[in-house]
Amino acid sequence: MKSIRGTIYVDMDDVLCQAARHFLVIAEREFGKQIAYEQLTNFDVGQSCGLRPDERDELYRIVHRPDELLSMAPVSDAIAVLGSWEQRGFEIAIITGRPPETSETSIEWLRKHRVPFHSFTVVDKYSRFATKQSGAISLCELAARRFCWAVEDSLPIAQYLADHMNLPVALIDRPWNRTDNEHSRISRYPDWSAIAEATCGDVVKILQGAGANEERD
Ligand SMILES: [Mg+2]
Repeated sequence: MKSIRGTIYVDMDDVLCQAARHFLVIAEREFGKQIAYEQLTNFDVGQSCGLRPDERDELYRIVHRPDELLSMAPVSDAIAVLGSWEQRGFEIAIITGRPPETSETSIEWLRKHRVPFHSFTVVDKYSRFATKQSGAISLCELAARRFCWAVEDSLPIAQYLADHMNLPVALIDRPWNRTDNEHSRISRYPDWSAIAEATCGDVVKILQGAGANEERD
């Protein structure tokens, strides 16, 4: 039986799938707002697009419809890199902050694009929903889980993983996460090909040599 070298935390929106670009398509189609991707300097797309609070709520409601979620494109190279990690004995844990009611569609998207993954978990990353009886877990519950590395695009969540879980994090560079960040456990990567390059040699050394929280036990 194959031994597991570790579990890698992988976020979904804007790490595996092009969520923000799809938000922009809907903001233009539904509200006539034309915003360039590089202008998304606020994690809240509604605010970056200058939408009223009611329009912002409507934008999020539309984006999370099954047909919209399923039409999101994968991020270049992501799926191939996950496949190479799986081949080298790592498990992939998909950890998303999407609303719990989108779980079935999210898993359908992962299967549609043949994303290799071993678990799928909804976490209330942004204090947006109740976790009780929803199948989702809180950030505190996430902190009890063990990972060897994480790939995120949210700077606050990357900082939580690094500070509270002692986890080395690959932060994928996005317009909304470019605020000053100096953290020994957070490394910024321009894209998945750079992550692939960083992990193509001795992946074990890179993933497990940076103070991964699996080594604390
Ligand atoms: Mg994300």
